Amino acid sequence: MTEKKFDYYISGEKDKWEVIIGLEVHAQVLSQSKLFSSSSTKFGSEPNTQVSLVDSGFPGMLPVINQFCVEQSIKTGLGLKAKINLNSVFDRKNYFYADLPQGYQISQYKNPIVGEGEVILDMPYGIKKIGIERLHLEQDAGKSIHDMDPENSFVDLNRSGVALMEIVSKPDLRSPQEVNFYIKKLRSIMRYLGTCDGNMQEGSLRADVNVSVRKIGDKKFGTRCEIKNVNSIKFMEMAIEYEANRQVQLLESGKIIDQETRLFDTKKNSTRSMRSKEDAHDYRYFPDPDLLPLNLDKGLIDKLKKELPELPDQKKERFIKEHNLSSYEANILVSEKEISDYYEEVIKGCDKKLATNWITVELFAVLNKYNISITQSPISAKNLSSLIKMITSGKISGKIAKDVFEKMQSGDKDPKQIVEKEGLLQQSDPKELEKIIVTVISKNQDKVTQYKSGKEKLFGYFVGEVMKASKGKANPQLVNEILKKKLH
Ligand code: ADP
Ligand code: MG
Repeated sequence: MTEKKFDYYISGEKDKWEVIIGLEVHAQVLSQSKLFSSSSTKFGSEPNTQVSLVDSGFPGMLPVINQFCVEQSIKTGLGLKAKINLNSVFDRKNYFYADLPQGYQISQYKNPIVGEGEVILDMPYGIKKIGIERLHLEQDAGKSIHDMDPENSFVDLNRSGVALMEIVSKPDLRSPQEVNFYIKKLRSIMRYLGTCDGNMQEGSLRADVNVSVRKIGDKKFGTRCEIKNVNSIKFMEMAIEYEANRQVQLLESGKIIDQETRLFDTKKNSTRSMRSKEDAHDYRYFPDPDLLPLNLDKGLIDKLKKELPELPDQKKERFIKEHNLSSYEANILVSEKEISDYYEEVIKGCDKKLATNWITVELFAVLNKYNISITQSPISAKNLSSLIKMITSGKISGKIAKDVFEKMQSGDKDPKQIVEKEGLLQQSDPKELEKIIVTVISKNQDKVTQYKSGKEKLFGYFVGEVMKASKGKANPQLVNEILKKKLH
């Protein structure tokens, strides 16, 4: 399949333009305390209850680097197959805002902790590699609240000083769909690693989205606009769509693009200008004199590398090889660590293909219906596994299994108990089945005559009647065999 070109609605100009996207993802480091202080990072606490003197920017307070956050960012770098820089530097990025009490953000500028890496996307049209430019550590700012009071703004500093990893991609993304896949993959890698919980509702993962357009075939990139702080994948897709069209329209009417910082308005579904883009020199970056350069021991990197868990790409390869799954199935099963764990629990001693189907079709339908994640599944992996084993061993039919599955979602969870209590065991005793079949045949003599005179379609009718008479419990294969004999 060829790559789907981004769909502009500019009339007559479809396929003439290409959109170029680069993301700066801000991922909150999964850590109990902040980057330079011991305050808690717990989400949803009373405002301003998790603020130390360092976080509130009191003069003379000294930041102390949190070793755990450093290790988390190294692990993330390794997960992005990136170069880890043994020497990096913390800089001050100076700007004024009410939610930034220090008057500067401690970040990394010229010498980040992690250098170039890559993320592999499994697009419907093939593999696409997205380059990572860098990953650096920085502090989050506090939160300004403008909508609680008509006259006053408030500031909550609980977030001030929380560790963020800024992961900067190369301008390699070419459509909202690729951005969707990229964020999901990045999120999945970090969740496997345990370095970021990826919770977008709580703001643990947000992105500045850089968008430009150019005519297809052009070598040079166009001027970009940066859409700040977008906190859902849907909004990223909508913002890119809107922004690309806005830029195309401007260029087609002979205007130019101003490099600017824009905001995505989720109510109007459009972007609007916030300020003209500041350049790095506007921030007066300089090395933070309160912090020593960060010098890492190579031994630490090697140790963390050894301890890395199996990541989605490797797991996918293993599932395909060991379990004979299609690439499509493997992708679904490794997309979240919890799903792959569940799957591996279910397949213990049971048919893998069947397990894959039951998980991706039946179980996912239940999860979707209740809008819950697999960790909240009403059906445990162990119980689903025993249900599947009962199908493959012929104890119950596939049809009965669906009824049992339905019942497992509430009350009795153990399929064996349900089957026993309700007498649902498959009837596989030929003598018993023969009795039922004989009765069905004797009740339908007219149809037997029709069948014998060539109306072969009626066979299905007989099977149906036998299944009905057995309340769905008859072994369909045996029913077929015996019926064929009896109708001859
Ligand atoms: P800044 O801090 O000024 O925004 P960064 O280097 O941190 O600069 O981030 C630049 C981001 O913009 C990167 O993700 C990069 O891929 C992306 N980018 C750079 N040039 C373009 C362009 N012409 N169109 C789209 N994205 C771009
Ligand atoms: Mg930026």
